[in-house]
Amino acid sequence: MGVKPELITKNYYRLAGGRVPVNLERLCRRLGFAIVEWPGPPDFTSLLSVPHRIVVVNRNMRYVRRRFSVAHELGHYALGQAGVQFFGECGRAERAANRFAARLLMPKSVVVSFWSDLSRGREPFNWRVRLLAHRLGVSRAAARVRLG
Ligand SMILES: [Zn+2]
Repeated sequence: MGVKPELITKNYYRLAGGRVPVNLERLCRRLGFAIVEWPGPPDFTSLLSVPHRIVVVNRNMRYVRRRFSVAHELGHYALGQAGVQFFGECGRAERAANRFAARLLMPKSVVVSFWSDLSRGREPFNWRVRLLAHRLGVSRAAARVRLG
């Protein structure tokens, strides 16, 4: 195994501009990829074609879902570039790409800092999760998972 996935994610975060919500268009551009929004079949989510330098994403999905999918595809690219190999079980590669997407879109330090700010108020938990998700450009479900 080459570089640690955590470090790759940090580099990508910086490449995207180093702020949230992560500018995925900018990140793709800097990596030489175009994002293609396609009204694919309902069971289609997204795909990556390295030779064609495109990330294709189902444009019928919600905005936050499209963002997570693009980040997921970039995860496959990043981990492949870093020489992280997955043999056999493809579920492992999918989980790794999801972890990459979560780390990229919701950097731990940013989440911790936002969450402590939000927790100073008196808003109910679900409302704070909603605000956090909004700031990060992710779904509430994704934010909740990241909070642990
Ligand atoms: Zn995947």
